[in-house]
Amino acid sequence: MSNTDDKEIELHGISASPGICIGKAYLVGKEGVDVLEKYFIDQNKLQEEVHRFKAAVKSAKNELHGIIKTMPEDLRQDAHILEAHMVLFEDKMLYGRTLETIEKELVNAEWALKIVVSDVKAMFDNMADSYLRGRAADIIHVSDSIMQNLAGAKVENIAAINKRVILIASDLSPAETSQIQLEKIMGFVTDHGGKTSHTGIIAQTLEIPAVLGTDNATSIIKNDDIIIVDGTAGSVIINPTDQTLIQFEERKERYESHKANITRDSELPAETADGICMEVMGNIELPEEVVSVINYGGDGIGLYRTEFQYLSRPDFPSEYELFDRYKDVVEVMAPKPVTIRTFDLSGDKKVAYVSRSGDANPALGLRGIRYCLQKPDAFMTQLRAVLRASAFGHVRILLPMVSCHEEIIAAKNIFNKATDSLAKEGVDFDENIEIGVMIEVPSAAIMADVMATDVDFFSIGTNDLIQYSLAVDRVNKDVAYLYQPLHPAIIRMIKHVIDVAKDKGVKVLMCGEMASDPINIPILLGLGMENFSMNPQSIPAVKSMIRALTVKDTRPFVQKVLKESSSNAIIELVQDTYGSILSDKFYYLD
Ligand code: PEP
Ligand code: MG
Repeated sequence: MSNTDDKEIELHGISASPGICIGKAYLVGKEGVDVLEKYFIDQNKLQEEVHRFKAAVKSAKNELHGIIKTMPEDLRQDAHILEAHMVLFEDKMLYGRTLETIEKELVNAEWALKIVVSDVKAMFDNMADSYLRGRAADIIHVSDSIMQNLAGAKVENIAAINKRVILIASDLSPAETSQIQLEKIMGFVTDHGGKTSHTGIIAQTLEIPAVLGTDNATSIIKNDDIIIVDGTAGSVIINPTDQTLIQFEERKERYESHKANITRDSELPAETADGICMEVMGNIELPEEVVSVINYGGDGIGLYRTEFQYLSRPDFPSEYELFDRYKDVVEVMAPKPVTIRTFDLSGDKKVAYVSRSGDANPALGLRGIRYCLQKPDAFMTQLRAVLRASAFGHVRILLPMVSCHEEIIAAKNIFNKATDSLAKEGVDFDENIEIGVMIEVPSAAIMADVMATDVDFFSIGTNDLIQYSLAVDRVNKDVAYLYQPLHPAIIRMIKHVIDVAKDKGVKVLMCGEMASDPINIPILLGLGMENFSMNPQSIPAVKSMIRALTVKDTRPFVQKVLKESSSNAIIELVQDTYGSILSDKFYYLD
């Protein structure tokens, strides 16, 4: 049934995967799972209740096992996520604490699980890092499947979807996504989740338009409603008028032909119209994403976020496990560079095997290099794995979230121990491996001259640099309007880092998402930036923008930009000067 009044409604969310699709809505519900009551268990029925919980966990595990076994080939890359879920079923935080709650409080298993999960949720909701928050959702997905088994809820058979639809869901677990015949799915819309959630990652990899985190799509959209999903703009239009439909059909066609054009040219070098070659690389989280970097013409991996391999598992990964994954990436990319960032876990409570009480400000807490230095054994293990992989291609090491010079010295001490031990063991590694530092904290940007004395390169992480410089939580929708990459303070800070890098002879790269938006490219070129890294899908557009510009013109242009006092004025200046190139090349964005 369609919306009763059939009025056109527009929803906004996070543009998690670009592109436009128009089709019918298909709602995935979680019937029965939330209708729960608390009741007390007699002492003599306690073992029965414990057994009921254990049986539900067992059935949920069996279901997941069945899903893993029958996963379609194109989603094999997600098998390890689901395998990690198998471990979570018996995680202390979930399994152990639920059993404890049943036994201590003599309450029914559903209630005990609900309480434990809501504690876990509250803990994770305070996390600043959207990527890790996405991984924390794993524990919630696992508990949902136990709950379904406890409550005897009917599990939606999304594997049976046999018509081309736009999937609308509260959230989708990896287990659910992996059951879907993805060729049937035209687009995704969810209430929760963001760009770095599983659905976001899968949608980007498979190039399915997705708008996530709309808050209320499942309560507004009805089955069979006609929907437009504009994954580029992050909007969803329900029951579009004929006029809107025509407008979006045209926009869709423009987007698709634009994409075909720029992707066709993505193998061309990122050379400006006045002959200066830039480097445009890709950011990855999973080894499998290397394929996208290659397909979109990336000049290497500018940022390999290694956190993923540390999550959803009972302990730190071993040197061999890490080495094995790094080696795959390095060999596939060789001779192009692979920049491996050491684990940037944000607050150790997010890792099941290290538990701490909740931090009030996790983004300012024990994360990045601070955490690496507090776990020297785990850090050493990772450095040894990276070094061993360096024998198979071109590897660079990147240190995250550095806020003072001493952290670089301390990290390099551990690095030296790692090289010494490998040398003693006669293991091959690249003795000239470059070490770089993320410039994503204002103190690191201001102290760039000091940082430069001990590193080979800087990588400007604008995602965090903007967050910390402007005091704007990067995942808080309420202050998203203040998250301005073109704020004059950000431009000045970037200028300072580039100037220092040139002066001190260290390379400088930008790996935050600021590098992925064509509108920022004239300013970045004018400031002297020559190396960029971004989500792989954005590589062709950025290369295309670079080819349309001359460094000669962007230099005087930046002088004008530096005189402006607001982000809006700067955007206007870019539009006035480069609007015709932007609208000519990216006119589908109108
Ligand atoms: C950044 O902060 O810009 C960055 C690239 O790191 P992450 O997004 O992983 O925090
Ligand atoms: Mg960062």
